[in-house]
Amino acid sequence: MTEAGKEAAPESLRAAEDMTLVTRFAPSPTGPLHLGHAFSAWMAHDLARSAGGHFLLRIEDIDRTRSRESWERAIYEDLAWLGIRWDAPPMRQSDRLGVYDDALRWLWAEGLIYACSCSRRDIVAAASAPQEGAEPQRGPDGIVYPGTCRAFARTPASPMPQHTALRLDMRAALERIGADTISFDEIGRGQPQRRRRPAKDMLEQVGDVVLSRRDFPGSYHLSVVLDDGAQGITHIVRGEDLGEATWIHRVLQDLFSLPRPVYHHHRLIRDPEGRRLAKRDDARAISAYRNDGLSPDDLRKLVGLGGSPAVP
Ligand code: GLU
Repeated sequence: MTEAGKEAAPESLRAAEDMTLVTRFAPSPTGPLHLGHAFSAWMAHDLARSAGGHFLLRIEDIDRTRSRESWERAIYEDLAWLGIRWDAPPMRQSDRLGVYDDALRWLWAEGLIYACSCSRRDIVAAASAPQEGAEPQRGPDGIVYPGTCRAFARTPASPMPQHTALRLDMRAALERIGADTISFDEIGRGQPQRRRRPAKDMLEQVGDVVLSRRDFPGSYHLSVVLDDGAQGITHIVRGEDLGEATWIHRVLQDLFSLPRPVYHHHRLIRDPEGRRLAKRDDARAISAYRNDGLSPDDLRKLVGLGGSPAVP
């Protein structure tokens, strides 16, 4: 048994070094793709094509209760109709559960995650207790976890428990990466800008996020970081609603010694009332526009993009 904090992340979790620009689109097959997905996929695809890079697809089907193969097939069909081509067979998260499990075991052995048995109700009660009546602090995943289960003693030698939520010990993670600032490069329309956040804000405003759920091994944060690393993604193009999650991903990338991607958090496509589109907005489904006789170029105009870029 190695002493906690001494072992480097397994080599298999690291990405190949390659300077070619690589972007991706990573939909979850839990409903129809809508206009917002088309915009996001085009943003990533256009960037790869204009830079002579690669565009990859990843099916984020880790949540087996909500994912459907019929939605996965619809994703391939919609993207093909939009003129989007991917340069390698799609990666599927359901094929990678072993990788997530290996990563969790390493985090466990290093004392960087702990088991949590709190229900949502427990969390609300504990987070509201210190300042009765005051709103509890909220982070990217909802209420910042008040740390109840962190206090329970565990030895690094104890086996990793199954079928229980596992949380990142954010304080231990920040100490491990030894950073007092978390940063990433953001590209908008110009040069990358470095965005920075004091590490202590991560403790207060983000906290001990869930890295493995009770009902399946892994979580969005864990798998997205490992998969982007494994696919060698250099530029992550996604909606600004995921901007807060990026700070968590940066901590995990450093823990796993993965390369740091450049980010572009793009604007969201909204309905005429200004609300974000959601999977339940079937009226804005790409297939609905297609069935109404619109062309992909009509959709590009609808979301404020110019004509299709020349595909090399
Ligand atoms: N699978 C996520 C979604 O469909 C996107 C994840 C990401 O782009 O990082 O919203």
